[in-house]
Amino acid sequence: MDVAAYAKLLPDITPRNKPFWDGCAAGELRLQKCTECGRYRFPDGPLCPECLSSSASWEAVSGTGTIWSWCTMHQKYFAAFADEVPYRLVYVRLTEGPLVISTLADEPSEELRLDQPVHAVFRPSPGGRVIPQFNTGAAAGM
Ligand SMILES: [Zn+2]
Repeated sequence: MDVAAYAKLLPDITPRNKPFWDGCAAGELRLQKCTECGRYRFPDGPLCPECLSSSASWEAVSGTGTIWSWCTMHQKYFAAFADEVPYRLVYVRLTEGPLVISTLADEPSEELRLDQPVHAVFRPSPGGRVIPQFNTGAAAGM
């Protein structure tokens, strides 16, 4: 895989999203949480979409959730993923509430289904960033 091409797809690390990426590097999923109403949010933002408070903290969350939707990519739309097709994009409803889009890290032996339990796993990318993905396997590792 071309390291430079892969790196182009990653978001910049900013002061606001750095806790998320620090969490990934530490092997845990961290979300911004409103300190006024307690709502978790993803992606991070300056205001709570529920109560408009600008007060928030970062919390480690379970890393568990269920599949809300998915698709399998067969076309080589992005050069960085050309050698990974087919791969699965998954929309995961985290246990804490937010929807996140990611890729499936494992290839389950059975067809995916709605509401299937998944858990976050963390994979180093060629550029050194640790990327969150999701696994369907109960034993695979957080
Ligand atoms: Zn709030």
